[in-house]
Amino acid sequence: GHGRRPLVAGNWKMNGLRKSVSVVESVRARLTPDLTDRIDVLICPPSTLIASCVAAAYGSPIAIGGQNLHAKASGAFTGSISAEMLSDLGARYVIVGHSERRAYHHETDDGVHAKALAARRAGLCGIICVGETQEEREEGRTLDIVRAQLAIGVPKGATATDTVIAYEPVWAIGTGLTPTPADIAEVHASLREMLTSLIGPEAARVRILYGGSVKPGNARELMSVENVDGALVGGASLVAEDFLGIAQAY
Ligand code: PEP
Repeated sequence: GHGRRPLVAGNWKMNGLRKSVSVVESVRARLTPDLTDRIDVLICPPSTLIASCVAAAYGSPIAIGGQNLHAKASGAFTGSISAEMLSDLGARYVIVGHSERRAYHHETDDGVHAKALAARRAGLCGIICVGETQEEREEGRTLDIVRAQLAIGVPKGATATDTVIAYEPVWAIGTGLTPTPADIAEVHASLREMLTSLIGPEAARVRILYGGSVKPGNARELMSVENVDGALVGGASLVAEDFLGIAQAY
């Protein structure tokens, strides 16, 4: 086998007040050793809840991560949060270049590269997101787009310890639409190949997640696609039962 341990990651986006920490508690209470022996589980709450979610997950197999970071370690960047700050709170991962950050905060592939370097500097694992828009897919440009995003975004010397890739077609996020398994297989194979040309044999160990409208009802089909090493889950990660249902696809 390829030896890649699946990662099921939740992205709460800008959702969750203090009471939402109970979602981490429920997931914790219902995750079985049989499952966590096989997969890694990650929840990325909003920054305001990272400390309390780390506390709720303490001593369990659940990792907590950030949804974004600033590339600098510290300085005059009002409102921003650095990789060092996330790590100091006990976060172990951080999402980098989510399509919502690219669309609403004008994040570029060079910016993604800088943030991925920052994540590594602080000992975090960066989850680098790539994905085409509906228009780019219709124009037949999907592979060119995601390969370019990967080529610019992934730092030299990236390893499976400091880097995870997430393929998230923009048109599949929050829409209930998903690509076909064959489409996902094509993109993931192309990403794996590109990654090999970027970082060599280490590429075989790097996890490539699929994200975009993953639900308990479609997780098994999506997660069984070749080169899909887990899921990045938005909406369904807000409900413990749904998030667990997806994790149990493994
Ligand atoms: C996401 O935000 O990364 C995502 C995939 O969202 P959803 O699962 O809601 O489509």
